[in-house]
Amino acid sequence: MRHATLPFPSRVFRRLTAVMLVAALLPLAAQAAEPPPNIVVLFADDLGYGDLGCYGHPTIRTPHLDRMAAEGMRFTEFYSAAEVCTPSRAALLTGRYPVRSGMCHDRFRVLRRQSLGHLPDSEITLAELLRDRGYATACIGKWHLGNFANEPAGHPLEHGFDVFFGLPHSNDMDPAPAAPKGAPGRPDQDPAWWNAPLYRGTELIERPADQTAITRRTIDEAVAFIEGHADQPFFLYVPFSFPHVPLFASAEFRGRSPRGLYGDVVEELDAGVGRILDLLRARDLAGRTLVVFTSDNGPWLTMNEQGGSAGLLREGKGSTWEGGMRVPAIAWRPGHVPAGSVHRGVATALDLFPTAARLAGAVVPADRPIDGIDLSGALASNEAAAREAFFYYRGATLFAARRGRFKAHFLTQGAYGDPQPKRHDPPLLFDLQSDPAERFDVAAAHPAELAALVAAARSHEASFTPAPSQLVATVDEPTALAPPARAAPAAP
Ligand code: MG
Repeated sequence: MRHATLPFPSRVFRRLTAVMLVAALLPLAAQAAEPPPNIVVLFADDLGYGDLGCYGHPTIRTPHLDRMAAEGMRFTEFYSAAEVCTPSRAALLTGRYPVRSGMCHDRFRVLRRQSLGHLPDSEITLAELLRDRGYATACIGKWHLGNFANEPAGHPLEHGFDVFFGLPHSNDMDPAPAAPKGAPGRPDQDPAWWNAPLYRGTELIERPADQTAITRRTIDEAVAFIEGHADQPFFLYVPFSFPHVPLFASAEFRGRSPRGLYGDVVEELDAGVGRILDLLRARDLAGRTLVVFTSDNGPWLTMNEQGGSAGLLREGKGSTWEGGMRVPAIAWRPGHVPAGSVHRGVATALDLFPTAARLAGAVVPADRPIDGIDLSGALASNEAAAREAFFYYRGATLFAARRGRFKAHFLTQGAYGDPQPKRHDPPLLFDLQSDPAERFDVAAAHPAELAALVAAARSHEASFTPAPSQLVATVDEPTALAPPARAAPAAP
């Protein structure tokens, strides 16, 4: 439609309207032009629920993580998606229970040094999802999703990461002949007991790695990655090697903590987190970067003083009691995540995948079940997330389920050295709000809640077939990958 013949007042009106329209659209245009936020995941290894100052530890000093919590959101009911390292990492990077990807096993628990299996190529990692959105991606730290010295397809560079620096597996998995019995848990650590390989990309750069320098070098590499990618969106995944045993701290931190060597190691991690947050502040990236700090599983209690603390929670690493899977978690993005907030709803490491996808403008894959839920609303306003249930697996077997404040245990088993699970019929039921330490079975008083949890667990198990386990085959015994057994929960 032509407007040249419009009378004068109409022309003025049209021009004014156009100016107003442009003015109204400007903020939208600025918003659209704003790059999506950087995502940084700092993932401690075997750090317990009670091991940080801001989670109540009386003697481990964590001023940087405490400040991160004061400037961000601290979660009181955040779960790792598995009770040990390999499945927990697979779940974090895929948003899926590890039984779906085969990255778990009832007996082997984690990938071993001789393992041939790895995160299947068919899995879509958060790194792949974000890289497709233009993110630079880095994994700096302990991988443990494939020993790529045995099978190159298990390398992080094959799973969406542009950069890798770190160990292929846990720091205790390559003992030297000099290692005495019980070496991982000994306080008098000797570097000569360990042969851990350190890689940059696909190149082995040091073996044995100097374990006293791993935390500092991990942070150095993370800092260099941020410096090198400050002008584009990035996804930085930092799975620390510690405080997994054997414990090593650098000379600067060793002997400093009243908590002993474990405290030294955690305080060095805390200082490293401080370096990363300080850099983000200094480079004006704080408001443009979501940083999440959490742990892959609970504390390794059988390591005695060399293991951490689950605080008031029952048990630790390797078990499906709360101490095995409920972990510290802090989210930080000044100006976006409300400062000093405490989120008391259930949240899990599974949720980081859909949450980061949402923030990055990526589409969550629709061709497979994703078990995490989008927490971006919870992060922005501390609103409750709409979660139906959370399932606790030990290896490939469903042991327990949580819905609201109630948790049912269908099976329980000691973390290590307890050969058979104990079946509970009726299941045990705990009210985690009034009894977070899981001391008082209230099944008889809440039959409807128990029935709902059993139904949820049955429906979850019936909804899919577990993938063949990647944790069985080794270079010595490249046996066919066997699917894990199912153990349906007992009826109430
Ligand atoms: Mg671990």
